[in-house]
Amino acid sequence: MKYPNNYTRPYLTEKNVKAFHKYMAAKFKAEIVNKDDKVSMEIIDWALGLMGVMDKGEFLKRYAITIGDRIYIPYEIGKGTMAQKVGQIILICHEMTHVIQGELDHAMKLKYLMSKSRRAHMESEAMHCNLEMYYWYYQKNLPVSALVKALEAYSLRDEDIAVAQTHLKVYSMITSRGVVASPVSKAAIAWWGNRYRNDSTN
Ligand SMILES: [Zn+2]
Repeated sequence: MKYPNNYTRPYLTEKNVKAFHKYMAAKFKAEIVNKDDKVSMEIIDWALGLMGVMDKGEFLKRYAITIGDRIYIPYEIGKGTMAQKVGQIILICHEMTHVIQGELDHAMKLKYLMSKSRRAHMESEAMHCNLEMYYWYYQKNLPVSALVKALEAYSLRDEDIAVAQTHLKVYSMITSRGVVASPVSKAAIAWWGNRYRNDSTN
């Protein structure tokens, strides 16, 4: 799939960003949960412990985490500035990739938590969505260096980050040629495209 021609950047509202989250959750059979409740916090705490993430507080404030088909998000859907709304769209696409990874291989969920090299691989695959959805909205490349910087929070070794960086450079090259490769980004871009063809008032 290529990026659509005659593209109009959608005007993001609380309503359409919420509708988008709802669509993505249904499409990829995931549940999106705000991580404010006690049980969620205990599950996340356990997962971050397995990953060896030291600064759990910082991680929880800034990052989403997917465990099985549950996506724990650190934001209120559709709230915030335009840039924050774009960020939510990008993040939910990223996390949906983790849901797919878990479905393709159920052992993957544990591999993500236990193996640093697997985690780096799965993160770079999911970050392909970050590159694609950023490009979709801003029509320019998200610098790979920003994603590599974000990887630092995932308790990875330098060699894992180096491999992820190589993957990301390739993904970035593909994206800058206007190709949408990830199934999640394809679904997301098609959804926004249909919406704006059918109903330009939203
Ligand atoms: Zn991730």
